[in-house]
Amino acid sequence: MKLKDNSNINDLKGDDEEAKYCVSCCSKIHLKAKVCPHCNNYQSRIYRFLSDITPLSSFVIVLVSIGMLIVSIYQFKEARNETIKASEAVKEAQLASANALKSKELSFDSLRLLRNTIEHYSKGDQIGFGPPEEERRQLLENIDQLLNEEKTQ
Ligand SMILES: [Zn+2]
Repeated sequence: MKLKDNSNINDLKGDDEEAKYCVSCCSKIHLKAKVCPHCNNYQSRIYRFLSDITPLSSFVIVLVSIGMLIVSIYQFKEARNETIKASEAVKEAQLASANALKSKELSFDSLRLLRNTIEHYSKGDQIGFGPPEEERRQLLENIDQLLNEEKTQ
């Protein structure tokens, strides 16, 4: 091949056997050239593919990262809500326990009051009031049994 234009001399560097056409702009370039000096495009398909896909894959990675961040924030909030719920449940349980203890004390107080009342009326021998003597004694025994259970607990 004859070179009429000196601008092509760097691209060809000799005869036609060492020349090829750019896959992108079709300029004649050196056979071993990996990048076209005219349009700066890669000659290898793999390189062209990679240079095309890199901006896209970066974008995808950024999107996936944002997605994962959102999921992490959501999971963190869920976990925090669960922790708050758990501590509220503990507080409620403590309150319920305290209330149960209070009502237990209250019922034993009521038992003692009932016992004193029955005893009072038994001593006074108020005829015609309350249950008969035998039932009263039985009631007192039951109450004493319950009060003894409180002491052992
Ligand atoms: Zn080119």
